[in-house]
Amino acid sequence: MLSIDVFTSDYKPIAAPLPGWDAGQRATWPASTATLVHGRREAVLVDALITEREARDLTEWIRAKDKVLTTVYVTHGHADHFLGLPVVLEAFPDAVAVALPEVVPYAEEQLSGPYLAYWESLFPGLLPARPVVPRPLDGEVIGVDGHEVWPVLVGQSDTDPSSVVHVPDLDAVVGGDVAYNGIHMWLAQTDHAARARWLEALDTVEALRPATVVAGHRHPAAPDDNAASVLAASRRYLIDFDEAVEAGTDATSVMRTMTAKHGDRGNPYTLFASATAQYPDPAAADTGASG
Ligand SMILES: [Zn+2]
Repeated sequence: MLSIDVFTSDYKPIAAPLPGWDAGQRATWPASTATLVHGRREAVLVDALITEREARDLTEWIRAKDKVLTTVYVTHGHADHFLGLPVVLEAFPDAVAVALPEVVPYAEEQLSGPYLAYWESLFPGLLPARPVVPRPLDGEVIGVDGHEVWPVLVGQSDTDPSSVVHVPDLDAVVGGDVAYNGIHMWLAQTDHAARARWLEALDTVEALRPATVVAGHRHPAAPDDNAASVLAASRRYLIDFDEAVEAGTDATSVMRTMTAKHGDRGNPYTLFASATAQYPDPAAADTGASG
């Protein structure tokens, strides 16, 4: 018998000055989840948060479950899902950090100079030292006390390649950034074609017929992880954003349209980043921003 427990880390202030963002409003990073899939004895963690402090809190939370952590699985290459790894691995030295082989090069890239500098600018002094890249998962399945947990490559989410973790015993999917729950979706690295592929990724998740979808970014007060509502809301958001860009003239118009329809979602900075990225300033350098 497997169980799932979700650790949620709240919205975090972003330190870096953000060009174009209203300085009177504090920009935050979206609330993030790390999910423990565990049996009687063993446990697998999906994603590992960002800052030293939240990774320590996560570690204490795992310790209190009194399980043998065998594996930390990283869903996709965005570093906000694995900068906390060194803290977790230090606390559980027998655990291995893995990702799908397709994902590993992107995770590696995020820890290279300019990308890492970007993350450090967002959270100066708060990131764990000596970041760790997950190694390629050997095989297709992760065992937990004899039960099977399946990574599934889904292609596009807020980056491509992305994956989810299917837990058939529980009719559950730990979704990385394929679906969001109550938080604006990171569309800064998408165009119309990528958003179409993201909708297909949602189809792939839906085809697994989950009852539960745990989103990598979940509002701390989200009522539940109901798969049908989380998937439908994510689909609606992608379609509405795509239509807003199609009909809009600038980032402000996209933000206005999306706020009218989805203003109850958390982390307005994400919407700002997504909308402004649709109208690139050719003089602006690529920061490697990701969520
Ligand atoms: Zn993310």
